[in-house]
Amino acid sequence: MKSLQVEYNIKPEVQVAVRGLTVEFRVSRGILRAVDNVDLDIYRGEVLGLAGESGCGKSVLAHALLNLVDPNGYIKSGKVIFDGKIDVLSLPEDELRRFRWEKAAIVFQGAQNALNPVIRVSEHFFDTFFAHSKGDKKRSKSEIISRARKLLEQVRLDSDRVLRLFQHEMSGGMKQRTITALALLLSPEFLILDEPTSSLDVLTQKYILKLLRDLHEQTGITMLFITHDLACLAEIADRIAMMYLASIVEIAPVDEIFYNPRHPYTKILLDSIPSREKDINEIKPLPGPIPDPINPPPGCKFHPRCPHAMPICKKVRPKLVDVGGGHLVACHLYGGAKE
Ligand code: SF4
Repeated sequence: MKSLQVEYNIKPEVQVAVRGLTVEFRVSRGILRAVDNVDLDIYRGEVLGLAGESGCGKSVLAHALLNLVDPNGYIKSGKVIFDGKIDVLSLPEDELRRFRWEKAAIVFQGAQNALNPVIRVSEHFFDTFFAHSKGDKKRSKSEIISRARKLLEQVRLDSDRVLRLFQHEMSGGMKQRTITALALLLSPEFLILDEPTSSLDVLTQKYILKLLRDLHEQTGITMLFITHDLACLAEIADRIAMMYLASIVEIAPVDEIFYNPRHPYTKILLDSIPSREKDINEIKPLPGPIPDPINPPPGCKFHPRCPHAMPICKKVRPKLVDVGGGHLVACHLYGGAKE
């Protein structure tokens, strides 16, 4: 029998391989496809940024990597393969439970509100350990606390103090750092950070970004960093994947995305970001409204808003093609499809 690595053409340096992943939700008006036939490779030890407008499917995609989907949703098709051998979406419940903390962990959006308000931080570490570790019930509480201390100090918190606190006694930045430390308790190799800085003030955002960058340098952990804020990714990501209406439209090293964007959506999105250097007249909003995700446009989903749209764009969905240097673009301006 062919190995998953061979069957799905996964390079050895890829830690998470996504193939043909489609996630849908039943909503009152019909079926909403939030992730549409996505292929993606996340390399071991990299920070991959996943960017795009709110509602484009970034969080749904990230959650599906751990086989987490809201109750009205379902994974319609596709594969998520970890380390070339673990077929995540086929794991039985008990193995999946362990996988989620021991191999891969997630810091959810709004994680600051994820701490149980009636227990102290130390109890969160015990609960997490005993609920998810490999039945290692012999591990003493003092061992767990010593690991928790180390992690809290790694995210630059006063561990003695923080372990005694309840969530309402901490600032937003402290809660975010505590949740990040908790996610690292079982030493996962892959960490998903879903909008980790979105509800923080600008100074705390900067601080958390630096801290995550340091954490990545110290541990070499693979990270998927989700945000709608491209400026954040400029500071932390090695590569950026751009999502538009449930599809990935461009993936490239971070400098390529900022200095040599290829997809019209990426270019327009970058042009719409204000900056100190830019003349106010150079800032252009994205043209037109976001199409209805329940009835997305045929062909390239960006065609109703694209200044370069051609007849083929209305009929044929472009595939991601490599335009050199690991820069992938899904746009008929760059590739091969015929009408
Ligand atoms: Fe624009 Fe066509 Fe490229 Fe889509 S495929 S982004 S419509 S040029």
